[in-house]
Amino acid sequence: MNRTTSEQLYQEALQHIVGGVNSPSRSFKAVGGGAPVFMKRAGGSRFWDEDGNEYIDYLAAYGPIITGHAHPHITAAITEAAQNGILYGTPTQLEIKLAKMLKEAIPSMDKVRFVNSGTEAVMTTIRVARAYTKRSKIVKFAGCYHGHSDLVLVAAGSGPSTLGIPDSAGVPGSIAQEVITVPFNDLSGLREALEKWGGDVAAVMVEPIVGNFGMVMPEPGFLEGLCKLAHDNGSLVIYDEVITAFRFHYGSTQTYAGLDNHEDITPDLTALGKIIGGGLPIGAYGGRKHVMEQVAPLGPAYQAGTMAGNPASISAGIACLEVLQGQGVYEEMERLAIRLTEGLQESADRHGIPLTINRIRGAFSTHFCAHPITNYEEAQDTDGEMFASFFRHMLNRGINLAPSKYEAWFLTTAHTDADIDATLEAAEASFQAMAAEK
Ligand code: PMP
Repeated sequence: MNRTTSEQLYQEALQHIVGGVNSPSRSFKAVGGGAPVFMKRAGGSRFWDEDGNEYIDYLAAYGPIITGHAHPHITAAITEAAQNGILYGTPTQLEIKLAKMLKEAIPSMDKVRFVNSGTEAVMTTIRVARAYTKRSKIVKFAGCYHGHSDLVLVAAGSGPSTLGIPDSAGVPGSIAQEVITVPFNDLSGLREALEKWGGDVAAVMVEPIVGNFGMVMPEPGFLEGLCKLAHDNGSLVIYDEVITAFRFHYGSTQTYAGLDNHEDITPDLTALGKIIGGGLPIGAYGGRKHVMEQVAPLGPAYQAGTMAGNPASISAGIACLEVLQGQGVYEEMERLAIRLTEGLQESADRHGIPLTINRIRGAFSTHFCAHPITNYEEAQDTDGEMFASFFRHMLNRGINLAPSKYEAWFLTTAHTDADIDATLEAAEASFQAMAAEK
């Protein structure tokens, strides 16, 4: 496949844009480097690059594009919003409509506030939790990603529950000291952390179903235990559902029937993003009324935004959720994902390639290893070189995946059986080539 134009554009981009990309996840650093593909156009399940090559897309822009690219209902909503004036700086009726839709789908959200990204949403839930509890520390889980604000760019030290170490230059050690990191699915690690630092812990924050080191389910009882331990300690529970809300069904983790929990798993605060903006920039957070009343102008916790709740993002979000309310859309994405993952597994097995697939409805992750993936340590302990080789073989056969061994494949409402057939054909050829290279 000829990608000369992408290579030239990458060289040009490097001169003007730091690293040539506007988000590090877009670079090919984790898959051996070189020029990322410069896409020119997208529609439905497909991408076309600057050299005219066509790809089937499973990146879905890291999640938001659940209805496929350029969905006509969303495109029409954005066009209408643009024609009515792009940004007002005043409240609009549209904001009420989307807020009501979110509240109906996510019962723990008595009150909502719109922001511009998942990062902002998460960052503000932490501020609100700190204001409400008058405590400063947060507990997070290793490998969960919560955006790029200082407090959550903190990695685990060694040991089952540790004070964090900065994961990025520019994050002061003093801030990392405010974060305790525990392995996912490890209730005893959480208990230990709360025994040690409990009186200081404002919130326990979690991706209740993980999307950032593969797709990883909480083990039965994990979320129940987490909520109970946090609440007994006087800490709030924050669910970061930037990836997961509206991903597996029309709602969030607290209403997801696929979880084997019997007790309450209701969070105090939820952070949202991605799908709820239909592809335009958005974030939102919300929760119980008396917690949310900490937020300005009602309360002392400040949060503002020039672009927050802008009519274009809100209109796109409403349109996207309307598509997702359609009969059987999640079942169809799941049906295709089952076909795809079963085919991938058979093909990998046939060629002696170790592959573990974690699938949750229409989303799944592929891990080059023979062990199950239930936490970050296990996700790290997989063959990155093999993933890089698979990624490149698939790309060269017209399949666009995220260039990272931790990221998910997303089915959209635009994918078809023909897409799955073509993808399985590409995978069979890729595994065959990889087996021959071994
Ligand atoms: N939380 C989670 C769970 C995410 O996956 C992401 C983005 N991948 C974020 C927060 C940050 O969202 P954004 O990129 O919109 O700032």
